[in-house]
Amino acid sequence: MSQIKFMSGENIPLEMHKVRIVQKLCLPTVEQRQKNMEAAGNNTFLLQNKDVFIDMLTDSGVNAMSDNQQAAMLQADDAYAGSATFTRLEGKLRELFGMDYYLPTHQGRAAENILAETYVKPGTVIPMNYHFTTTKAHITRLGGRVEELICDEGLESFNDYPFKGNFNVDKLRALIESEGVEKTPFVRLEAGTNLIGGQPLSLRNIKDVCAVCREYGILTVLDASLLQDNLYFIKQREEACKDMTIRQITREIADQMDILYFSARKLGFARGGGICIRSEAECLKMKELIPVYEGFLTYGGMSVREMEAVTVGLEETMDEDVISQGPQFIRYMVDELHAAGVPVITPAGGLGCHIDVKQFLPHVPQEQYSAGALAAALYIAGGIRGMERGTMSEQREPDGSEHLAAMELVRLAVPRRVYTLSQVKYVIDRVKWLYENREIVGGLKFIEEPAVLRFFFGRLAPVSDWQEKLVAKFRADFGESL
Ligand SMILES: *Cc1c(COP(=O)(O)O)cnc(C)c1O
Repeated sequence: MSQIKFMSGENIPLEMHKVRIVQKLCLPTVEQRQKNMEAAGNNTFLLQNKDVFIDMLTDSGVNAMSDNQQAAMLQADDAYAGSATFTRLEGKLRELFGMDYYLPTHQGRAAENILAETYVKPGTVIPMNYHFTTTKAHITRLGGRVEELICDEGLESFNDYPFKGNFNVDKLRALIESEGVEKTPFVRLEAGTNLIGGQPLSLRNIKDVCAVCREYGILTVLDASLLQDNLYFIKQREEACKDMTIRQITREIADQMDILYFSARKLGFARGGGICIRSEAECLKMKELIPVYEGFLTYGGMSVREMEAVTVGLEETMDEDVISQGPQFIRYMVDELHAAGVPVITPAGGLGCHIDVKQFLPHVPQEQYSAGALAAALYIAGGIRGMERGTMSEQREPDGSEHLAAMELVRLAVPRRVYTLSQVKYVIDRVKWLYENREIVGGLKFIEEPAVLRFFFGRLAPVSDWQEKLVAKFRADFGESL
């Protein structure tokens, strides 16, 4: 990619695309935003999308499609069996990853279900750099256990380590020795480690982990859902890879793996997913589950139109100008906030910008869901929808006590190619304003608390009148402006 410089020397991310379809946005007044937040039970999942100005809830299934993806959707071949659409997708996956077999699934977690059903039994241990919510749910549902072997730097909020998603390889070896190979059917490597801030693994670390697995005869499985960001970071940050193309890096990673699965809601810029498998023997173990859970082997629950979009999206992922957009905008956001003293996870990862709420709101106890409170405050301050990733997202202990999250975060995901720089600047501005006024922000308490996945449906209320005070301060500072 050619690096574009500004005369001023400023580091400004530049959109490498133009907008040809637009969707109108509305920004309700701050008073209306407070009412909307109350109506949504102070839970950003329960807001109406029409009331959201900048939606940073997730990067899943909300990335902008390209003109070529849209065009390809028109050629979708709607045959139940033997569809040409499937053949095209299968061919693209084989070309990029070099694996002979592809089993389609309707999204990433469905691939995790198939893998877990095939390999996990009571007592099974699955080592991984870090868990993802749905991955862990499938493994533990079947009586297995997840062991996280992330490097120490991975769990520190602020440092310069370029590959915070790396495994501690010594711990992997020790775990396999202590648990035994029979209990460890596969090791899972998660690219662009989602829950610790979209942090990458290095190619070096991937190779070291896979060498250990080969030594013990253990299968290697890559969760490639966030591979695109990881590819970009390897190219940018790993000295040994700086002259490789994205396609070469992709292949080097895939060559290390026995199995690779993905959510096409992220990788491929559309919706869907699947499992790529190197050997026929492993494919046969999983194949029969596809028609049971997903659909026939040539669509796996996906629409053929989406499959066409995935095929083109995968090819576009090999273009550094395409995959650089997310990480560059996120880096801009992280750098600007960091420079203003706002506690954000560094270095910038893929996926989004993560605010460290324990540092942002030290006066709000985790028992009062400080990350949930900050997410609510950010909506009131700017119509911006982020996601709580902290204590509210945890489950209570069996005795009913709170399980306090290790990291209390608000995630501001950056949907790929959706928002422009001025919109990102607006978000930065409102986060800074909120930081200056952080003393006003107070906690939340549950008024309706579901027993499972409470963060999706739970409803909360402020513990005091802090939201009225926040609205009053907004009016005092911004006058009649929205
Ligand atoms: C999103 C995601 C999944 C699950 O994919 P869905 O398509 O949402 O089911 C699995 N792993 C990682 C790393 C993800 O980011």
